Amino acid sequence: MSNQEFRDFNLIKPIYRALRDMDYTNPTPVQMQAIPPLLAGRDLLGCAQTGTGKTAAFSLPIIQHLAKNQRRRERGFVRALIVTPTRELAAQIYENLNMYSKYLDVNSVVVFGGVKQNSQVKSLNRGVDILVATPGRLLDLINQGYIKLEKVEFFVLDEADRMLDMGFIPDVRRILGHLPNKRQTMFFSATLSPKIIQLSKSMIHNPVRVDVTPEKPVVELIDQRLMNVRTKQEKSTVLMNILKDQNVTRALVFTRTKHGANKLVKLLARADIEALGIHGNKTQSAREKALESFKAGRVKVLIATDIAARGIDVEGISHVINHDIPNVAETYVHRIGRTARAGSGGISISLCSPEEHPFIRDIEKLIKQPIPIVDERPYLTRVELKPVEPKPQRQTRPSQKSYSQKRNRKPRNPQGQRRPKQRGQASPGSKARRGNYNR
Ligand code: AMP
Repeated sequence: MSNQEFRDFNLIKPIYRALRDMDYTNPTPVQMQAIPPLLAGRDLLGCAQTGTGKTAAFSLPIIQHLAKNQRRRERGFVRALIVTPTRELAAQIYENLNMYSKYLDVNSVVVFGGVKQNSQVKSLNRGVDILVATPGRLLDLINQGYIKLEKVEFFVLDEADRMLDMGFIPDVRRILGHLPNKRQTMFFSATLSPKIIQLSKSMIHNPVRVDVTPEKPVVELIDQRLMNVRTKQEKSTVLMNILKDQNVTRALVFTRTKHGANKLVKLLARADIEALGIHGNKTQSAREKALESFKAGRVKVLIATDIAARGIDVEGISHVINHDIPNVAETYVHRIGRTARAGSGGISISLCSPEEHPFIRDIEKLIKQPIPIVDERPYLTRVELKPVEPKPQRQTRPSQKSYSQKRNRKPRNPQGQRRPKQRGQASPGSKARRGNYNR
């Protein structure tokens, strides 16, 4: 972070407001170097990893331009295209775009493989300002005529080196063939090998070059531990035993999903461990309150998802616990880095179930060291859980109709089955009945 402020850039107010909501105060180095030339329309060759703030660096100028030069959206046509190698990254970029543009009429759509295309096609048909895509699905949809790239004004190629590793370059070249020559291009890669530079030359013209060395947490300072567990239940038991330890003074626990975070907060409460959750489904004020309590030490456990945890800068975190192992290796480095602020050390514990082993292998490759395995057995002691509190009964007002009444349906019998229809008897919504109305 720097002393420069976002206010020093020529960004429009709704963007500042969104950044303020996200607690971005100072631009990161890549943002400082990239945003002004991008606003001026230059191409960019960026050497920056995920975690440096590069998403905002390329997104903010695009959003600003689209907001200032609005056009009617046309079915299938795209104005800005961001291509990224993995669906996790695509989803993450999409989520960020939505946050940056939340006060503007600029829309984004994300498409990636591995899921049905129907809902993606529906969104495309409504017209798209910014499309985030992985290469395979993008080409599929182009070939089916759902996406048209002839009017693209901005093209971002993200993580070019990973594209190369994953064998996506032929696909990228095919995509390039659909793009108009007149466009602004931003090319990002974590490394700039000769091969990558060569590739970039076919896409960018007279670019500004931005190089940022990632703000890597000092992995060596962190006492990393890996515990293998067999089941989900073992995971929870081990976690509860760890958190009950006196040495854990401030713990940040990561879960993969928002739902998982909520569930964990409830479970810990039953073990008398007070924890708060912080994730994207919570209101801004709930998030702030949780963070404040955690910072002030009123609650020693914070359970977070990755997106919500980004930007959390809390000192004195004694433990980072990966309840779920991240499937993007870089995320692991971000997570554990929260415990080694300002040169202090800290402990990170990763709870790994059998299906998560491949993620650990990726992480170890990235950090170039094995994570020492620690015996989980002492932490498998049974934890006494309080019974689940019954949900408060919802009061139904006498006048309130039941679901079946509202839908004009036959009530269910006590076994929950709808009574079988008598031969010749019309159900309330059936044609025969409607026929009566028409008479
Ligand atoms: P990225 O490299 O774009 O994936 O960004 C890494 C994380 O840093 C994201 O979660 C962003 O929300 C966060 N971030 C990006 N820029 C800033 C900033 N200027 N201030 C605070 N957090 C930021």
